[in-house]
Amino acid sequence: MERDSRPLILVCNDDGIEAPGIAALVAAVHDIGDVFVAAPIREQSAVGHAITVRDPVRAQPWPFRSPSGSVPAWAVSGTPADCVKLAIDKLLPRKPDLVVSGINQGPNTAVNVIYSGTVSAATEATMLGIDAIAFSLCSWRGGDFESAGRWAARIAGHVLTSGLPDGILLNVNVPDLPYDRIRGARVTRQARSRWEESFHERRDPLDRPYYWLTGRFVNLDEGDNTDLHAIEAGYVSITPVHHDMTAHEHLARLGSQAWDEEPTP
Ligand code: MN
Repeated sequence: MERDSRPLILVCNDDGIEAPGIAALVAAVHDIGDVFVAAPIREQSAVGHAITVRDPVRAQPWPFRSPSGSVPAWAVSGTPADCVKLAIDKLLPRKPDLVVSGINQGPNTAVNVIYSGTVSAATEATMLGIDAIAFSLCSWRGGDFESAGRWAARIAGHVLTSGLPDGILLNVNVPDLPYDRIRGARVTRQARSRWEESFHERRDPLDRPYYWLTGRFVNLDEGDNTDLHAIEAGYVSITPVHHDMTAHEHLARLGSQAWDEEPTP
């Protein structure tokens, strides 16, 4: 891809503009492009692809500093998808060459992709015709964001050079390991998995019950080409993702069924 100027890179996340992961991602991609930040002012984890339609969305300039200086940034009152839409329509000087989202605190592997605000920011970019990558660090608390940042810079560099297929984002999960202990990168598919969930019932000060979702993540997939398998083996997992949720492999069989006739018992 030939370009007259440095690439413009929009950085977003779902953990909020003050999260350590977005600082690490900005620092990581600062050398390879002109970086702009548009991120939620408050944490928006697990909001999926929600957008704000019944309330105004506000964007305030934010004093975002990276090791290499200050970075143009806006804190946005909405969701990750709102941030990307608004930045591209109103905030940025031109259409970005790349949108990167993260680095999320916690993995976005397997079934979790559907809940992920981090991935949805990248999805929104692909829907607007822009290459995008979602980055997550496989640690729920703290972890080696510096190592994940170095992988983010490497993978973003590849995408800036080679581009991505139309409508496809890369969902990247990085094991929480020092850089020199990560064994490499693998292209993977989402593992089949589910949450065994239940709600804790608690009592508020007026003795009314309230509920708090909790659960245990279960991997149902023995495959050796999954995101979960790669992470467990110490590799960076790169999963190509698209937002077309059509079950293409079932179109023919379901299409041959006479849906417009009364069912025969
Ligand atoms: Mn998050």
